[in-house]
Amino acid sequence: MIKTKNLHKSFGNLEVLKGIDIDINPGEVVVLVGVSGSGKSTLLRCLNFLEKAQEGDIIIDGRAIDRKKDDLSKVRAEVGMVFQHFNLFPHKTVLENIMEAPLIVKKEEKGKAKELGLSLLEKVGLSDKADVYPNKLSGGQKQRVAIARALAMEPKALLFDEPTSALDPELVGEVLQVMQDLADEGMTMVVVTHEMKFAKEVADRIIMLDEGCIIEDADPETFFNHSTNERTQQFLEMVN
Ligand code: ADP
Ligand code: MG
Repeated sequence: MIKTKNLHKSFGNLEVLKGIDIDINPGEVVVLVGVSGSGKSTLLRCLNFLEKAQEGDIIIDGRAIDRKKDDLSKVRAEVGMVFQHFNLFPHKTVLENIMEAPLIVKKEEKGKAKELGLSLLEKVGLSDKADVYPNKLSGGQKQRVAIARALAMEPKALLFDEPTSALDPELVGEVLQVMQDLADEGMTMVVVTHEMKFAKEVADRIIMLDEGCIIEDADPETFFNHSTNERTQQFLEMVN
């Protein structure tokens, strides 16, 4: 579903991604870990074409994306992204936030967009919040709206960049639950998170980045219990 070949990304002289090869299958949940600055966000941003890689290919659902020829808003509709900070439109209601992209990008008919929006709100447990403004929501509720908004484009895969890192601890669980539900339904997901319980229970695979290189790509059991990599050991000591 999402594949990269020899992906390189630099900011000036700083090489942040040093030849990344990943291959994520349909329905797979991959948790991406690594210390701060290891390149996790940059990798997700490249996969969402928010950053331009200098070298390498990104292949979405079997097709190599060409930044010049492909319509990137269409590519982003196929692979959506959820950020740490939810970036909801403050002057739009919850339902309007969710309807925005289907209406503008997909030119969806209004009644249909509304119907989809309401069903997605039900899915994330916020049916009663359709007509409120984001400033009336808790952080956990805002993030669930952001997930519904991403789903409104009916993506084939979703990228999550530390979706619970900005939340008060008591609000983390409700967002992880929505993500787990999506995983159970077969959504292809790449998740950057420090929630190791989620990684252990939900991930099919853990990929660890270190200084712009993949140093582990293993199932959770192997990653958490049998890794012999020194950097992985250090990382696990730090997060546990
Ligand atoms: P992570 O998400 O793993 O913490 P990032 O991908 O955000 O890591 O950052 C990796 C490195 O790239 C860091 O050294 C960071 O300072 C640098 N970096 C990220 N974005 C930019 C940018 N837009 N301009 C310059 N340097 C950047
Ligand atoms: Mg980051």
